[in-house]
Amino acid sequence: MANPIDAILVRATGGPEVLELGKVDAPAPAAGELLVAVGAAGVNYIDTYHRRGVYPRDLPFVPGAEGAGTVLAVGADVTGFAEGDHVAWADAPGSYAQQVVVPAKAAFPVPGGVEDDTAAAAMLQGLTAHYLVTSTYAVKPGDTVLVHAAAGGMGLLLTQLVKARGGKVIGTVSTREKETLAREAGADEVIRYTETDFVQGVKDLTGGAGVAVVYDGVGRTTFDGSLASLARRGVLALFGASSGAVPPVDPQRLNAAGSVFLTRPALAHHIATPEEYRWRCDELFQAITGGRVSIRVGGRYPLADAAKAHTDLEGRRTTGKLLLIP
Ligand code: NDP
Repeated sequence: MANPIDAILVRATGGPEVLELGKVDAPAPAAGELLVAVGAAGVNYIDTYHRRGVYPRDLPFVPGAEGAGTVLAVGADVTGFAEGDHVAWADAPGSYAQQVVVPAKAAFPVPGGVEDDTAAAAMLQGLTAHYLVTSTYAVKPGDTVLVHAAAGGMGLLLTQLVKARGGKVIGTVSTREKETLAREAGADEVIRYTETDFVQGVKDLTGGAGVAVVYDGVGRTTFDGSLASLARRGVLALFGASSGAVPPVDPQRLNAAGSVFLTRPALAHHIATPEEYRWRCDELFQAITGGRVSIRVGGRYPLADAAKAHTDLEGRRTTGKLLLIP
């Protein structure tokens, strides 16, 4: 190898143990690309789906899509970036490595004073939370909103963004420690859904009216209760499935639940144009630098411990965002 770097390699799909530290050749930036030294790589649920082969990728591959770091080299035809710039990204395959190639159109210039850790932790989940509260269902002052797994990476961000728009948050969590974190992030009410029935809890807290929107990234174990928690014509934003996939749904159930709306959104469809990507990044980072959103990094792992990070995330043991530090 001419210029070996450390990277996590998946040679066969499977459990966390297939994430092995290895050496790969340093990538070279082609036209329209940047070569970046990764300061921090974000760990996301989608990485676990790639690792398990739920979303197939050609083997071997370096997992990860998100991170922040310093530009080492600029490919041909790139304008607006120079060596030494700090950038963050949500969509550059192979980010679990010391260096990664980032398409210039996917690179966001990190505002001065924002550390790599914060920028890497903010991107994928922050942009997702942003589109969920602005576009999937535009939260209005006075709306009551149900956020599942409110102390998770997505949950803490959703809670803060809903509060910033004047909404009231009912969060669900599994433990007392997670309840404290959700309340610190602004949740008005927290239900420990492993101990009490959250559907009854939502009924009691809303005087039987239900919520305007449920942000549900948990999936299989919460889906039925989420439907039952909606107000008439409410929106169920099923954005993930940390507990497993939801079985097929009969559309008639949406009628029975009160002419409700069900959507299964993805980030890619909300940052597809440079304008939309830029708008969401700008608003997110303005909220961070303005102190309106705080980013909680719940765990930092050396690159070699990627398997442990996945084990902890899937084992329901984590809060906030997990990062790999190459
Ligand atoms: P989290 O930090 O929220 O971790 C997952 C949480 O889900 C756990 O901490 C746990 O919280 C809860 N949970 C409930 N049941 C289970 C279970 N059986 N196994 C594991 N966890 C469980 O993860 P992320 O913030 O990274 O992601 C949350 C969801 O958002 C994922 O489904 C992910 O795929 C999705 N996502 C979707 C995107 C999109 O655009 N559609 C983009 C980004 C993320 P508790 O212990 O409190 O129950």
